[in-house]
Amino acid sequence: MFRLFLIKYGEIGIKGKNRHVFEEALVRQIEHALKPVEGEFAVSQERGRIYVEALGDYDYEETVQALSRVFGIVAICPMWQVEEQGFEQLASDVLSYMKEVYPDSRKSFKVSSRRANKAFPMDSQEINAELGGRILEACPGMHVDVHHPDIMLYVEIRSKVNIYSMSIPGPGGMPVGTAGRAMLLLSGGIDSPVAGHMIAKRGVTIEATYFHAPPYTSERAKQKVVDLAKIVARYSGPIKLNIVNFTDIQLYIYDQCPHDELTIIMRRYMMRIAEHFAKEDKCLGLVTGESIGQVASQTMHSLAATNEVCTLPVYRPLIAFDKNDIIAISEKIDTYETSIQPYEDCCTIFVAKHPVTKPNLNVIRRSERHLEEKIDELVKTAIETTETILVEAE
Ligand code: ATP
Ligand code: MG
Repeated sequence: MFRLFLIKYGEIGIKGKNRHVFEEALVRQIEHALKPVEGEFAVSQERGRIYVEALGDYDYEETVQALSRVFGIVAICPMWQVEEQGFEQLASDVLSYMKEVYPDSRKSFKVSSRRANKAFPMDSQEINAELGGRILEACPGMHVDVHHPDIMLYVEIRSKVNIYSMSIPGPGGMPVGTAGRAMLLLSGGIDSPVAGHMIAKRGVTIEATYFHAPPYTSERAKQKVVDLAKIVARYSGPIKLNIVNFTDIQLYIYDQCPHDELTIIMRRYMMRIAEHFAKEDKCLGLVTGESIGQVASQTMHSLAATNEVCTLPVYRPLIAFDKNDIIAISEKIDTYETSIQPYEDCCTIFVAKHPVTKPNLNVIRRSERHLEEKIDELVKTAIETTETILVEAE
């Protein structure tokens, strides 16, 4: 029924030069999203509009689903486009549209026409009235409702005529690639995939770093993180994922430091290593799934202690979110079922029974001094032996 989609996008914040950058990135992201979809497509951009055209047979459902994951898209409107050949032809095309898209329908409608082509002999008021009359005649079940119509029928007369009435919501946000790059600390939990999704939604390109501790954490736990990255990549695009072997560092900290400070010190080393990779790839910030008070390592005191070792800004999109709200988003973006698979990504022997909730920075720094040069060696080795993979959506 449709070969063409009109892509609507937000206008806020894309004035002047930015608009160009935004539109080009959006076209690029749309093309990327459509690659795995059955069919061939042409994406074009014309005077504040983006169109997606199917060039042959294609899968409608798959296409709409792929488009509904492109950040920056506000709405996807399946559309007919016909030649401009005067009012009689227009009326006939509009009637065909209504009959085909809404067969035997008892719905209310309103016509909203726009005449960008001022050479067209009628103004938009006249077109609305005349088309409305023709539809009433031809579709006996239909009636007009100008306030709350079931069908808002848009007719745009440009060099060609656009006819559309359906609007499928897009995810909103900004196209990935318009806001720089950030390094996500990605674990197998519920929070960090959601945090990554939210940052990508602002147009940020994300990379990720995962710390595992084999043999204390399993191969399956690592696979779970890769699976989560694949799901996040449906929206964010491909994610470069660093998998850091953290075992020796954890064992050494466990050996040398008071156990109630373990988590904080470990998290400080995670941040340092993630920042190393972030700077290598010119990331402008780190991203975590932390939220105030969720666990001992996420009190304001603990966050301050973790933050202290970072020189890049640390973005925490979930900072004020309740767990339930985070879960709701993870369900919506489809990471929840994977996140709750029972594979620990941080072995329980490394978690203290009574971790500090108000770490004193001087105490933490003193404990870290016990680690001496050996820790630098271990960090260096962990960085050198890091496995890096490019994770793409499936
Ligand atoms: P999540 O549900 O994302 O695992 P969490 O509630 O379990 O979060 P923590 O384990 O305290 O919280 O971790 C806080 C944040 O630190 C995570 O959201 C994530 O950004 C990062 N993080 C924790 N563990 C790891 C890990 N093994 N590898 C990479 N990042 C991690
Ligand atoms: Mg976790």
